[in-house]
Amino acid sequence: MEKRDYYEILGVNRTASPDEIKSAFRSLARKYHPDVNKEPDAEERFKEINEAYMVLSDPEKRAVYDRYGFDGLRNSGGMPDWNTVDPFEIFEQFFGGGFGGFSSSRQRRNAPHRGDDLYYSVTLEFEEAAFGLDRELEITRDEVCERCSGSGAEPGTSPVTCSTCQGRGEVRQVRQTFLGSMVQVTTCPDCGGSGRVITQRCKNCNGRGHERKTVKKVIPIPAGVDNGTQIRLSGEGQPGSNGGPRGNLYIEVKVKPHKYFRRRGDDVLLDLNINLAQAALGAEVKVPTLEGDEKLAIPSGTQPGKVFKLRHKGIPHLRSSGKGDQLVIVNVEIPERLTSEQRQLFEQLAKTLGSEVRPQERSFIDVLKDVLGG
Ligand SMILES: [Zn+2]
Ligand SMILES: [Zn+2]
Repeated sequence: MEKRDYYEILGVNRTASPDEIKSAFRSLARKYHPDVNKEPDAEERFKEINEAYMVLSDPEKRAVYDRYGFDGLRNSGGMPDWNTVDPFEIFEQFFGGGFGGFSSSRQRRNAPHRGDDLYYSVTLEFEEAAFGLDRELEITRDEVCERCSGSGAEPGTSPVTCSTCQGRGEVRQVRQTFLGSMVQVTTCPDCGGSGRVITQRCKNCNGRGHERKTVKKVIPIPAGVDNGTQIRLSGEGQPGSNGGPRGNLYIEVKVKPHKYFRRRGDDVLLDLNINLAQAALGAEVKVPTLEGDEKLAIPSGTQPGKVFKLRHKGIPHLRSSGKGDQLVIVNVEIPERLTSEQRQLFEQLAKTLGSEVRPQERSFIDVLKDVLGG
């Protein structure tokens, strides 16, 4: 790559003030930071921008560059060698970590990390979802290794202080750059940042400190859960690393359909068949609810599709007190076969009812839609 003029790189003129140089650098570095810019030449551009800024922001180097150009800088040791200088280290040294909202490109490997979340599901009966229960579940996850108590070292031995970093977990190297001597800090390659090394690995976990285990966990399922409800158990997921917390355990609820109850929100719907006489004359009938049979008075002249509401006989609200209702939707059954006695009675009835027919104004489906909201 042809070496470009530093002023041109930053897009400022030769009389630019330090503030103008700084703000030009700030916006260009944001644009070409390889964390956000995936163009193939982003890293080259990023280095170029950093180099231009390092020279132009330093009054002495800027004066050398203005008078003698690149040769002058080279001769005075003012040109960075990218083989030994890390642009990100310089970038962070100039602006501090997290500049412009970027995470450091070299995230410390020994930083605490939260463990992964685990996902399981439970299938419940309709009533179990309505009333809640404690359900025992087998969860397979990493647990602290029993043999080494999580140290990763074979019992009888213990991890020793890392000799490479003397337990600090990081290695410091002093580099001579044109900015003067600069300290470069990297994660210790021998202990991975923990500061300790295991001389004899635990035979059970091979130094991981964890072992795969299936544990029984009692999951408290609250009353009122429905298909798709997610229950979160904080800190019951995979263990974290470097002292980070455990992840969460998520349980997704699935509910089996009921033989005759249906659910709409926290209301329970029930279709109830009554016979012609009950509909015409009225009756007191027994209706199943989640809490046992309830008496329901059917008034005389009840039409098909009539909905009766049994207050607070529905499903408990999951996130508040109280309950839904039970809605009983009446269907009037017409007998398909008649005994001879019934036939006689119907024939008598037919005479009194006459032969007149009349158009139905609104269908029973319409009425039902009104009541049930579609
Ligand atoms: Zn172990
Ligand atoms: Zn070390």
